[in-house]
Amino acid sequence: MKAAIFLVLILVAVASGRETGLRHFKGYKVFTTLATTKEQLDALRVLYLGSDYDFWTSPNGLGATDIMAAPEQIPELLKMFGEHGMEYTVKFEDVETLVEAERVANAKASTGRIDWTSYQTYDSIVEFLTTINSNIAAVSVIGQTTEGRDIHVVKFSNGGPPKKSILFDSNIHAREWIAGATGTWVINEILTNADSYTAILQEVDIYVIPMINADGYEYSRTNDRMWRKTRSVNAGSSCMGCDPNRNFDFQWAGESTSSDPCSDIYYGSAPFSEPETQAIDRFVREAEAAGVQFYAYITMHSYANLWLIPWGYTAGAYPPDFPALLSLGQAAVAALQAVSGTVYQAGQGADILYGAGGTSYDWAKNHGIKYTATIEMRGNSFVLPPEQIIPNALEVWAALQVVIQRVIETVPVEEDPTPVETVTSCGGEIEASSAAINFQLDADIPAGQSCIWIVKPTFDNTRARLVSSGLIGGSGIYFTEFNAYAGTPGQHVQIANVGEDYTFNGNFFLVTLTVAVGANTGFSLEWYSSGLAGGAPSFSGFAALSTPTGSYSYPVGGGQYANSENALFIVNPEVAGTRTLAFTRLDVENDATCSYDAVSVLTWQNNEYTQLAKFCGTSLPTPFNLPTGLALVTFRSDSSVTGTGFTFTWA
Ligand SMILES: [Zn+2]
Repeated sequence: MKAAIFLVLILVAVASGRETGLRHFKGYKVFTTLATTKEQLDALRVLYLGSDYDFWTSPNGLGATDIMAAPEQIPELLKMFGEHGMEYTVKFEDVETLVEAERVANAKASTGRIDWTSYQTYDSIVEFLTTINSNIAAVSVIGQTTEGRDIHVVKFSNGGPPKKSILFDSNIHAREWIAGATGTWVINEILTNADSYTAILQEVDIYVIPMINADGYEYSRTNDRMWRKTRSVNAGSSCMGCDPNRNFDFQWAGESTSSDPCSDIYYGSAPFSEPETQAIDRFVREAEAAGVQFYAYITMHSYANLWLIPWGYTAGAYPPDFPALLSLGQAAVAALQAVSGTVYQAGQGADILYGAGGTSYDWAKNHGIKYTATIEMRGNSFVLPPEQIIPNALEVWAALQVVIQRVIETVPVEEDPTPVETVTSCGGEIEASSAAINFQLDADIPAGQSCIWIVKPTFDNTRARLVSSGLIGGSGIYFTEFNAYAGTPGQHVQIANVGEDYTFNGNFFLVTLTVAVGANTGFSLEWYSSGLAGGAPSFSGFAALSTPTGSYSYPVGGGQYANSENALFIVNPEVAGTRTLAFTRLDVENDATCSYDAVSVLTWQNNEYTQLAKFCGTSLPTPFNLPTGLALVTFRSDSSVTGTGFTFTWA
């Protein structure tokens, strides 16, 4: 009798796959829930930062989030949706069915060799990589995973000294199988159609790391299809692994990370605690020490149809050359869409997805690599049917070739020998590689006058030099980097000494002149830009307002303002004097911290731009006193909910 029961138990265990430790998802559901208010979003964030539920997508701004729940968790989750009035739909009724269908399809499609009709084992990928025999490809090992698996890089080069270099990597997240399959597909594509890429390899070297998180990947094949992390042991915890894409040292332990080893977004015991992330960091640094210069780093993930660009660690933060990254992202997703109609969105990672600290694309950008991005590839779950490996790879490769082409076109430029433009007016806009501001040369400037020149250098590095100056002490010329997308001032330097070089990074500056009481005459200032193209920043709304008194309404012509606005209005009356800036109308999406849409007022005092207030909603702020009469009004909106804007007066 006992023996019979024992036998039955064995049969049950075998049938359910438990002898291999395979995790089952019977009765697990995936819900897509919609946050339409900040309160709902906050409730989701609390759940997300806990470790109970597997969030397939992260709660970003307002919008949809996919959450997997075990059968016993479902009542609690639905109760929470109900308490917060959140709408939801069931995206997958039974995750086991989804996973099982993939297992069957993958087994059926498998031909016993790598051919991109099925998802491969790590061993099969290694066999493919280590048997590459080509005069344009070299395979090397850049490190080992926690469990001792080799991490490979394939270098494509036609030989000679290092060329401008590009790094692609994939499968840092275990369950995102399509990422690794795309990585190996790209390698195979360059190998088998080498003739098509001869011209490219005259210009660049391409490195591909197709399988970073090999331990996690294998575990997701043999044990838990939804495993995301590495497989390192966490001291004092029975939970294993950390999220390698929270483990890089830039903005480590920041937004959307967890200190809980059981969380899927656990950031690890320290930056680069994982051998997998160490391997990438070491590879890049050692290559650079050997003369390699990386111009692009693209990391492949799934799913969401997104092209994410830095900074990803928080919303509203942008590198100075953001326009160049955005234009590349938009060109890349256009090329991708042209292949078979798949629609992607390109944008700043935290603005369109969610803020996340310690990610590889931010790390790479902060390290100094010009173009970096995270691709969240196609699909509505981590389970992408194997017959979509090749269609996905074809479209992603079209996008990656846009990156390659952009890198080829990105050439460091030297400074012009002499300024290509000259401006003599008080204020004005100058978009050029170099220019001279020759203002009131040898002529008087009245006390109290202020001028603002808007300077858009073509290239990333700007050198400014005062050639001559008749300004007295107390007067000044200031270079202020102004982030066109964040709407905030950055680096701020006084250009005081004739003949001295002042250097800046950025593509948008306010050059501000203030004049003290005394015998001032004019000056000649020259600036030159060099390096890589940063792209011309643009504003959704812009005005330079110089009448002594006036009123300005936005949007011009009425109606609602648009999504994703970045507007700048400069109030700088030609007649000097103290003034008051007052808002007479305000209708801007409201939340407690004005984190979605916001108006900011900055004034010039103590020789710098200072934010006086940031506000939203419909309550008019108290009028602002402007000691120098000079103010900046900036406006930002997010990707949902608009209003009718605002009107302000100055007098
Ligand atoms: Zn991922």
